[in-house]
Amino acid sequence: MKLAWSDEDEAFRAELLAFLEAYCPQEAKRGKDFLGEGFTGVPEWARQWQATLFDHGWMVPGYPPELGGRNATPVQTLIYLEELAHRGIVRSVHFGGYAIVGPSLLEFGNDGQRALAAPSIRGDIVWCVGMSEPDAGSDLANLSTRAVLDGDSFVVNGQKVWTSYAPFADKCFCYVRTDPDAPKHKGISVLIIDMDTPGIEVRPLRHITGAAEFAEVFFTDVVVPRANLVGELNNGWRITMGSLAHERGGLWVEGVAGAQRALEGLVALARRRGLDTDPTVRRRLAEAYEQVASLRALGYKGFASFAQGSSAPEHSYMKLATSELRKVLFELGMDLCGPYGAVVDPALAEEGGRWWSGFFVSLAGTIGGGTSEIQRNVVATRVLGLPKS
Ligand SMILES: Cc1cc2nc3c(=O)[nH]c(=O)nc-3n(C[C@H](O)[C@H](O)[C@H](O)COP(=O)(O)OP(=O)(O)OC[C@H]3O[C@@H](n4cnc5c(N)ncnc54)[C@H](O)[C@@H]3O)c2cc1C
Repeated sequence: MKLAWSDEDEAFRAELLAFLEAYCPQEAKRGKDFLGEGFTGVPEWARQWQATLFDHGWMVPGYPPELGGRNATPVQTLIYLEELAHRGIVRSVHFGGYAIVGPSLLEFGNDGQRALAAPSIRGDIVWCVGMSEPDAGSDLANLSTRAVLDGDSFVVNGQKVWTSYAPFADKCFCYVRTDPDAPKHKGISVLIIDMDTPGIEVRPLRHITGAAEFAEVFFTDVVVPRANLVGELNNGWRITMGSLAHERGGLWVEGVAGAQRALEGLVALARRRGLDTDPTVRRRLAEAYEQVASLRALGYKGFASFAQGSSAPEHSYMKLATSELRKVLFELGMDLCGPYGAVVDPALAEEGGRWWSGFFVSLAGTIGGGTSEIQRNVVATRVLGLPKS
C-alpha cells in the first residue's frame, strides 16, 4: 500500500498553486463563511474569476477543456477541491450553474440544451434552481407548480420558495407538475424558464446575515416554449435525483477542508485572546480536532471505494456530520471572542465578523440540500439498514 500522492499528482498540485498565485483575486479568498454578507448580485470580480478559471481549465478540472476542465482524474479533483478549500477560495458565488444545471443538461438535455452547459459552468448564464415550494421541501415530490401544455407552449402557474440567486438569475431550472393525476413522483417535468418572461414575480427574502440572494418566485400564466422541456415529459423525477447527486458530489471535501480551516482559525483566535491555556477551551479545541480528523479519514475511505467504482455509503453521512460540525466550530469561535462575539459591526468584530457570520451561514448548511433530520433518516435506512419509521 502506498499512502502518498504520485509525482503526476504533485505536478498537478504545483500547477494549480502557481495558477492561483498568479490569478486568484483577493475577494475570492474570503471563504464561504462570508458569502451571506451583503451579497445581492454577482460582483464583477466574481464574474471575471469564474471565467478565468474556466478559460484556464480550472473551473471543473475533471471536465474536458471545452467545459472548463483538463480531464483531471478523481484523485486530482480531490487535490483541487482540498487546495481551494484550505485557502478559503470560492470558484463562483452562484453554484447552481456549474454544480447542478450544467451537469444535468449534459446528462439529460438535447443538443441545443447541452450547448448551454459551457456558458453555465463559465458563469456567463446565471441560473436559479426552482425545486422547493411552501408545501414541498424535504418532500420535494409534493411540488404543485403546474405546467399545462397548450400547443407548442406550457403555461406555468404556482410558487417556488428559497430560490437562491433568483433576484439576479438569467434562467430558472424549474421543476413543475405536468400530470396531476399520476402518482406524485411520476407527473413531474423540468422546464428552462427565462427569468424575464412576463408573469414572473421575484420577491427577495432577507437572510439573518442581511443578504437577500434568495427569494420567493411567483409564476402567473407564464408561457414557456415546449422546446424548453428538459428530458421526457413527466420523467423529471430522474433529473431531480441527478441534480441533487451533482450538488452533493464534492461537498464532503469542501465540508472537511472548511472545518479544518475554521479549526486553524480557532487555534489562532484562542492564542490571540490569551485563552490557549484555558483547560475548557483546550478540551473543546481537541474535541474539534478529533472530529475533523475522523471525518477526513472517513471521507478518504469513501473516496477510495468511489474511485474504484464502488458506491460510498460513508458520503451520505458526511453532509450531515460536516454541516453540524461547522455549527459547533463557529459557535466556539463566537465564545472565544467573548463579548465581541455578538458584535456585528465588521469594524469592531473579531476578524471582520468571521465568527458570527460563519455561525449564521452554518445554520443554512444544515437545511439546504437536505436537512440534518432527513440525512439522519437516510443514514438510518440506507447505511445502517434500519426499517423506515
Ligand atoms: C441557504 C439555502 C439555500 C437554498 N436554496 C434553494 C434553491 O436554490 N432552490 C430550492 O429549490 N430550494 C432551496 N433551498 C430550500 C431547501 O432545499 C429546503 O429548505 C429543504 O429542502 C427543506 O425544506 P423546507 O424548508 O420546506 O422544510 P420542511 O421540509 O418543511 O421541514 C421542516 C422541518 O421538518 C423536518 N422534517 C421534514 N420531514 C421530515 C421527516 N420525514 N423526518 C424527520 N424530520 C422531517 C425537517 O428536517 C425540518 O427540520 C435552500 C435552503 C437554504 C437554507
